[in-house]
Amino acid sequence: MDGATLESKIKMPEPATIVPRPRVLSGMRPTGKLHLGNYMGALANWVKLQDAYECYFFIADLHALTTDYADTSGIAPNTLEVALDFLAAGLDPERSTIFVQGQVKQHFELPLLLGMITPLGWLERVPSYKEMQENLTSKDLTMFGFLGYPVLMAADILLYQPEFVPVGQDQQAHVEITREIARRFNNFYPKPAIKKIGEVLRTTRYEEVLYVLPEPKVLLTPSPKLPGTDGRKMSKSYGNTIQLTDPEPVVRQKLKTMVTDPARVRRTDKGDPDKCPVGDLHKVFSTPETLAKVYEGCRSAGIGCIECKGWAADALVQILQPMQERRARYSEAQVEEILKDGSRRASARAEQTMVEVRSAMKLPMWNGAEQ
Ligand code: SF4
Repeated sequence: MDGATLESKIKMPEPATIVPRPRVLSGMRPTGKLHLGNYMGALANWVKLQDAYECYFFIADLHALTTDYADTSGIAPNTLEVALDFLAAGLDPERSTIFVQGQVKQHFELPLLLGMITPLGWLERVPSYKEMQENLTSKDLTMFGFLGYPVLMAADILLYQPEFVPVGQDQQAHVEITREIARRFNNFYPKPAIKKIGEVLRTTRYEEVLYVLPEPKVLLTPSPKLPGTDGRKMSKSYGNTIQLTDPEPVVRQKLKTMVTDPARVRRTDKGDPDKCPVGDLHKVFSTPETLAKVYEGCRSAGIGCIECKGWAADALVQILQPMQERRARYSEAQVEEILKDGSRRASARAEQTMVEVRSAMKLPMWNGAEQ
């Protein structure tokens, strides 16, 4: 040793040169226990994002009110179930901020301000507005809250000034209206001159320095086609789901009743996994070896559907079991604590944005607006 201590030889980066990770944010409505479609469409990607991004994930209890306003009894218990599924899937409260939208008061404040500048026409032409009104005929959705839900969603996102919003192909329009609202806000209310060097250092991108509400970009995440047991898209409203909490016997039973290639009526008929929902499950979850056996056996009528479904069930159980074990480790009290802590952290970050928003809008700030 030349006399220098080991510590002095290990060069630690200066705090000011540590590059912040890009921030991402996404949320899910508390619809009850989540299913494999939710997992493959969002959660599995979120789990991976934790390694490279600063992540905020939330449960959108206020969004549930836009359609379930007449009976709110399911929202609180469903919020807990979804939180448990988040943790079971592998979201890590140490690395990600996991919170409940309605527990962060800034989610009530920013939508009101953004609502003042959002033209009605923008909201009326959001594709899901008409679609949901047509599909959910059992509910009266001619409400101010339902029409305004894209404003609520824009506020959810913009409060955290994220660089990216991870979404599947079909949800890109949602991010687009958020970008339009942010652009309009930034035009009306330019950011005051930069006062602190710290403002530059805490960001990875120039948009955050220039604008109060930088426009987030879409982070396209893969969402493979996942059929439900009836062959349609897996969805709670179709009652065709495999839940993340389904025990092995239930998974096997659901697979047994799953529809198959309609051309394969008898055991001796040849089939095609590309025309079979069970084949689609194999493509997502099975090993290449099993998939090869499925193609070969199905196309030659060398295997029966029962055997093939058994292999698919094996693959699903392998994915679900570790999640169910993780889920069992959390008590309700622990989950509540995680959500409380996450909501505190989220609120602190959202308040940074709100201070800038109120200042840019020149709102009176003398009576404790900066909490
Ligand atoms: S063998 Fe498998 S892939 Fe082929 S039709 Fe039956 S269930 Fe579907």
